[in-house]
This record gives sequence, C-alpha cells and structure tokens, in this order.
Amino acid sequence: MHEGHGFSTRAIHAGQEPDPLTGAVVPPIYATSTYKQDGVGGLRGGYEYSRSGNPTRTALEACLASLEGGTRGFAFASGLAAEDAILRGLLGPGDHVVIPNDAYGGTFRLFDKVATRWGLKYSAAPITDVAAVEAAMNADTKMVWIETPTNPLLNIADIEHLADLAHRRGAIVVVDNTFASPYLQQPLALGADVVVHSTTKYVGGHSDVVGGAAVVGDDELAEKIAFHHNALGAVAGPFDAFLTLRGVKTLGVRMDRHCDNAERVAEFLAGHPKIAEVRYPGLAEHPGHDVAGKQMKRYGGMVSFRHKDGEQAAVDVCARTEVFTLGESLGGVESLIEHPGRMTHASVAGSALEVPGDLVRLSVGIEDVDDLLSDLRRALG
Ligand SMILES: *Cc1c(COP(=O)(O)O)cnc(C)c1O
Repeated sequence: MHEGHGFSTRAIHAGQEPDPLTGAVVPPIYATSTYKQDGVGGLRGGYEYSRSGNPTRTALEACLASLEGGTRGFAFASGLAAEDAILRGLLGPGDHVVIPNDAYGGTFRLFDKVATRWGLKYSAAPITDVAAVEAAMNADTKMVWIETPTNPLLNIADIEHLADLAHRRGAIVVVDNTFASPYLQQPLALGADVVVHSTTKYVGGHSDVVGGAAVVGDDELAEKIAFHHNALGAVAGPFDAFLTLRGVKTLGVRMDRHCDNAERVAEFLAGHPKIAEVRYPGLAEHPGHDVAGKQMKRYGGMVSFRHKDGEQAAVDVCARTEVFTLGESLGGVESLIEHPGRMTHASVAGSALEVPGDLVRLSVGIEDVDDLLSDLRRALG
C-alpha cells in the first residue's frame, strides 16, 4: 500500500495500518503468547503462537522490509540472534565464508568461537579490496559477509562489486547495514541477498531496546530464514518490537541530524593538533569516500580517530568527556564515546581483527553540535 511512497512515509506507515478494531493509529503491543482458534486450525488472523508470529512483531517486520526494499523482514531478539539464524539457516558444515578483517567483534566471535565448532570455515579479508576478497574465496565459499561502514574503522566496502564477484562464484552476499541504516544505504538494491541489522543501534535509535533484523527479497532465502527464525526461536518480543517501531518512525530525521553533527565533529577533529588520523567516510581524504558517495545517501553518524599521544591518551579522552557518555553501543540520540581496543573490540585482541590502541570511537548523537564540539575540545586538552 505504501510501495510508491518516500522513505519517511513508509517508516511511519508501512505495516502500521490503524488497528481495524479500534482505529488506534499505533499498532498495539499484543502481549499474548497464544491465540484462540475457531475450531481446530481455525486461525482468525493467521496467528497461532507468538514465537511463530505476533502482530506487533509483524508490523515491525513489514516496516523494515519496506525500508530495505525487500519482500520479507524478520525481527530477532538481538543483532547476533539474526546473524546466527542467517548462518544456520543458509549454511551448513564444511561451507566457507569470507568475513571482513575488521568486522564487529561479536560477529567475529560468532564465526570464530561458535560457527567453526559447528563445522563452518571462514577467512578474514580486507573487504575494501575486491581482489583480496576474491583471493580469500575457495570452492566451498558459499557466503561473503560485508559490513560497511565497518566498526570501528569506518572502512567502506563496494557492495555492488562484491555482490558481482560473489554471484559469479556461486556465493550469496550478506550486508550488515547497522552503521548506515536503511535511510543511508539499501544493500538489496546494490545486489546483496540478505541485509542484517542490529536494530539496537540506529533503527531503534533511543538506546532503550536490544534487537536485530534480517531482510531479504528472495522467496527461497525468506523460507529458510523464516524456518530458522521459528525453529531457533530468538524472536523479538512484542514490547521490544513496539519500542523499535516507535524508534523507526523518526529514522530519517534522526539520521540527517546524526550526519550533520558527525560532519562537523569530523572536520573539527581533522584540524586538531592532538589527532593523528580521523576515520570518517565523509572526509575527502578517506580512502572509501568515493565508494561511500556512490552507495550511501550521506556518510553516517560514526567517527573514529587516532590520538597522537598513543593508547593512554586515547583512554584518558574517553574518561574526560561530559556530553559524550562513556559507553558501548551506538546509534542512539545521545552521543557516546568508547575505546574499542579495551571495550567493544576486546574480544578480537590478538586476532587478525585487532584494532589500534590509540583509537577512539564516537557515536555522534543529535544534541546541539556546539555542545559536542566544546566537549571534545575540552577533553582533548
Ligand atoms: C551491535 C552490532 C551487532 C550486534 O548486534 P546486537 O544487537 O548487539 O546483538 C552487529 N553488527 C554491528 C555492526 C553492530 O554494531
């Protein structure tokens, strides 16, 4: 019904028709585990048990499918639960996956510590480099896992080229679109087969709920993920689906403000004497700037930088900010600061995915930008 409408119209209306019973404009929280049947098998609304389906969750799933330009969406209890269902739903023992050499730490841990025990093989490659990804593929490669921009280095992968490569070699492409959000980047239109999100981040946007999602545009993939969504059971509950849907309505306006503020923060840091390097795809000197410009609407709200004075100085900056809250996670309305090496990415220490010790990651929120700039100015000393 909202097929031809713009992004924010769909964010507010797709999957969210007023409740037929009462006219409530917001999909109710259907806090129910089961549904009365009119005679055995006589389902009123297609629902029989809330692990298999729940109307609040359906509203969120339809909305996310629309925003990503897919046909089916699946809402999970967390981003990692969505990743697990994709892996176990679409791959089997002996299959090989190419993953980014700077993937989200939890994604790496899922491959390295869980999936390998289950017979899956993986290689970590720099996904900014299509030739390096090709070199990492072998006869068993069934999937190329892309994250772009990456966490925490904000590297950019060329989704279209990697999808071409993967498809030529008979592999499918999964894109973790958490950092960009569907407002800035729609991987399915660029050739990806599956989009995965930690909706905990920009999609939910208010740091009040943990969730995940998968979206596909292909019926066969949809059937496999639908089966594992139910069979593994890590589904989003109705309260969580409600909160996420409430957040998603403002995704477009929030992302524009995140981008406005992040651009100002990146420029400020680029001119600061204590900063060795700023990682922000919106800066002309970022190696992925042109590819980001081609596949993203804007450059996002995440900015990382390396401190000239090394690891301890980076750690100290994180402890000194006041408006930027020291904490893990990202994508909420409030600005966050963290030290990836000791916090979000501690689990990749000593691996190919280890991050530099002098690196600081910012999730630039939607506060007044002047307050953010003066906070950083003070904390950098
Ligand atoms: C947070 C995050 C995840 C994991 O999502 P959870 O909701 O924490 O399980 C996956 N990918 C990226 C890029 C993330 O930032």
